[in-house]
Amino acid sequence: MKKKVAIIGAGPGGLTSAMLLLSRGYEVDIYEKDPAVGGRTGRFLLGDYLFDIGPTFLMLPGYIEEIFRLAGRNIHDYVEVTPLDPLYRLSYDDGTEFNPSPDMQKTMTEIKRVMPGELDNYLRFRHDESYRFNRIERSFKIPYCSLYDFLRPAFIEALPQMDVSGSLQGRLQKYFSDEKMRLAMTFQTKYIGMSPWQAPSAYSLISYIEYQWGIHHVTGGLNRLTLAMSKVVAGLGGRVHTSTKVRHIISKGKKAVGIALEDGRTIESDYVIINADFAYAMSNLIQTKRKYTDADLKRRKYSCSTFMLYLGVKKKYDMPHHNLIFGEHFKDYMDEITMTKRPSAQSLVYVHNPAVTDSTLAPEGKSPIYILVPVPNNKVSIDWDKLKHSFT
Ligand SMILES: Cc1cc2nc3c(=O)[nH]c(=O)nc-3n(C[C@H](O)[C@H](O)[C@H](O)COP(=O)(O)OP(=O)(O)OC[C@H]3O[C@@H](n4cnc5c(N)ncnc54)[C@H](O)[C@@H]3O)c2cc1C
Repeated sequence: MKKKVAIIGAGPGGLTSAMLLLSRGYEVDIYEKDPAVGGRTGRFLLGDYLFDIGPTFLMLPGYIEEIFRLAGRNIHDYVEVTPLDPLYRLSYDDGTEFNPSPDMQKTMTEIKRVMPGELDNYLRFRHDESYRFNRIERSFKIPYCSLYDFLRPAFIEALPQMDVSGSLQGRLQKYFSDEKMRLAMTFQTKYIGMSPWQAPSAYSLISYIEYQWGIHHVTGGLNRLTLAMSKVVAGLGGRVHTSTKVRHIISKGKKAVGIALEDGRTIESDYVIINADFAYAMSNLIQTKRKYTDADLKRRKYSCSTFMLYLGVKKKYDMPHHNLIFGEHFKDYMDEITMTKRPSAQSLVYVHNPAVTDSTLAPEGKSPIYILVPVPNNKVSIDWDKLKHSFT
């Protein structure tokens, strides 16, 4: 008899778990509260315009290719992946623009043009990060289920390179004196909703990964990846139950034995996998005595949030696929949004212009423009109905 697994959530995490478990012979059901799969990696339709809800940068596509391969599938039968050049355009408050590329020579020419004093520093940074990445990468691929996993050779080899003590800005100051170059290598902390002054220095690997292996686009948007994953799940015999919210996990002693759905049904299973956010799951889905109490969860620090504009525009723009615009007083802004005060200015704006690469997202001559501005999270009360007008 096959072991039964219930997965709560059809985001990329839940779908990946389903693909891997199905390919190893488990019986899998995914319960998703929303009407469609994808979670934050889902899509949003506005008339003729199609938007990714969240993710727009695909890095290291080899990882997702490997998940498909482990499930007995070839990702290229499902989606078209294109590397972007330039990676993005960075526009600074003094009017300078910097367009790095996955092509090392082009990036070097661009650094010479914009920040000539930083070329040797950049080469030193690339060299050091390459050394670190090669020693850390194997540790990304091992499971961390118990303390014994931290004794595995892949983790022990990576440990000296992880440099968890300092901040990212601290690390970058050892390489670069030009503030523009430091911004180019640290703005990536926006991906995890942190400030470069608070993010751990190990995060410099993200900018290294972008410059070394590039940023990729999936035709139709990154939401196509989760759609493709749900097709693989169905093809392997898994079931995805959309519009089906899980109320809580049913346990016997310390073991999860099933789930209770919002509609009153109960489902028995041998295992339960939670793909929902950690803090939400702890306080809502787990009803037995918990390791993390509500008081523990309240004390924790949470990442900042984002203000999103999805604009269907009747024209095309002559600008790259990804654009980051930096304003003045960037550090003050980062402090304000991550220490959850009301921001005095918007010193970082990301504009996604995918129509320059992909004609499937809007009718001819039109563009789906996605604008993201980091803002404080909902731990601080802000009257967004009032404040939203200052963003338009
Ligand atoms: C604005 C934004 C931009 C981003 N940009 C990028 C990017 O460029 N590149 C990148 O790699 N990442 C990016 N990310 C991060 C990326 O979206 C997430 O890392 C990824 O979606 C997380 O996947 P997940 O499966 O863990 O969770 P999620 O995508 O959040 O999926 C969780 C799923 O669980 C479901 N769920 C929750 N509770 C229940 C319940 N009780 N019952 C049933 N279902 C439930 C939710 O509806 C959801 O579908 C971005 C995120 C945001 C918000």
